[in-house]
Amino acid sequence: MCGIVGVWGRRETEASILAYLGSYAQQHRGQASAGIVSSDGGKKLYREAGLGLVREFFTKERLSCLPGHIAIGHNRYATTGTVKECNAQPLVAETPFGEVAIAHNGNLVNTSAVVDMLTRRGVLFTSTTDTEIILRLIATSKAKTLIASVYEALAQVEGAYSLVIMSATEMIAVRDPRGFRPLCIGKLEGGGYVFVSETCALDLIEATHMRDIFPGEIVLLRSDTTNPEYSFLPAIEKRHACLFELVYFARPDSNVFGDNVYLIRKAFGAELAREAPATADMVVPIPDSGVPAALGYSEALGIPIEHGLIRNHYVGRTFIEPTQSIRHFGVKVKHNAIRCVLAGKRVVVVDDSLVRGTTSKKLIAMIRNAGAREVHMRVGSPPLVEPCYYGIDTPTREEYIANTYNIEETRQFIGADSLQYLSYAGMLSVVRKTSQGYCTTCWTRNHPIHIL
Ligand code: AMP
Repeated sequence: MCGIVGVWGRRETEASILAYLGSYAQQHRGQASAGIVSSDGGKKLYREAGLGLVREFFTKERLSCLPGHIAIGHNRYATTGTVKECNAQPLVAETPFGEVAIAHNGNLVNTSAVVDMLTRRGVLFTSTTDTEIILRLIATSKAKTLIASVYEALAQVEGAYSLVIMSATEMIAVRDPRGFRPLCIGKLEGGGYVFVSETCALDLIEATHMRDIFPGEIVLLRSDTTNPEYSFLPAIEKRHACLFELVYFARPDSNVFGDNVYLIRKAFGAELAREAPATADMVVPIPDSGVPAALGYSEALGIPIEHGLIRNHYVGRTFIEPTQSIRHFGVKVKHNAIRCVLAGKRVVVVDDSLVRGTTSKKLIAMIRNAGAREVHMRVGSPPLVEPCYYGIDTPTREEYIANTYNIEETRQFIGADSLQYLSYAGMLSVVRKTSQGYCTTCWTRNHPIHIL
């Protein structure tokens, strides 16, 4: 769970400001750390990276230390490695091609053999992220060019990676051959290019969305040429775009894998209404993630939507709190019910996904305390059962409620009068037409890569 951005501007462009805005738009993809590396074409890259939100970490003073027309940015939610300053990205290392910086969204798998090989060669790791493996492979490469060293490095790793890599004179954007994570290229007004995880970042910096980077595609920008050069990693038969990006993770105003996220979530809700209609006076979304699915559900059944739960927007996602006890407390901090809307009513609560069941349990109790007569729960995706190895921060197998309880037991646990999920076939029927293949491991346990 990370957001990446790469800015390749004209000489007069303040690339770090655009990278900052791009990271700001992608804050939802990672709140643990933020960082930007920039270059004005000189030998040294400039780097500012540390813990915290983009707006907290990047003071005016820090941004003013990032001159130049080239920059990459990153915001991180730890999926491997702990939340430590040394793990903040972009990472920078000295290489045969001068200083090189890298920002990574995704998660490598089966890394221990490569780490062993590098360690035997005397390579010292300064972080505990899997991203550093790619950087060290580039730094120890015998290849003649940066792009050749990137090819060589990527041939040795497996997993999910959308990357932006830069030196003082080059920028490389890559999406892994399975295309797990999104990455797209845009054109900057006034000239230049930009790479971002999500199109909502392009909107903010007023760049034009050219297209998604294809799975396995490498885009190279160089100071001595004007146009991007496109090439491909060895192809893999099937694509595995992360379907959970569409269900929960990406922002609704982004277009991801060729689909608008908001419309897809609404369609999940409409399909859920067909599969699992409820008799009720109102549909209440769990804000914010359940809103589009709830709208689709409400429209399909002609049941009015009421925002009977209100979220305090100054609290982070409950999920990121480190312990169970804090998470329980967090739900109350984060949501409140509107008694005069809910009292005496039959309510259908809609959320995008059910993970541990703890949020729904608290919120359903809150709605009942506010006087609701019936509370039905509908979920806009199937039961989650498998942790993600490809870049989404998810709980362990044991923590997923669907691995402990069947649907009836889950209903009892969360305290709903009825509970139904969108079926797996229903979910695929909404998205199937528009892409070549999705990673659905978190629902099916079918891993696209054999995990050692
Ligand atoms: P729970 O009550 O634990 O089942 O949490 C459900 C809520 O967590 C839903 O509102 C989801 O939108 C949200 N959610 C789902 N997956 C994640 C994730 N990987 N990280 C943070 N929140 C999530």
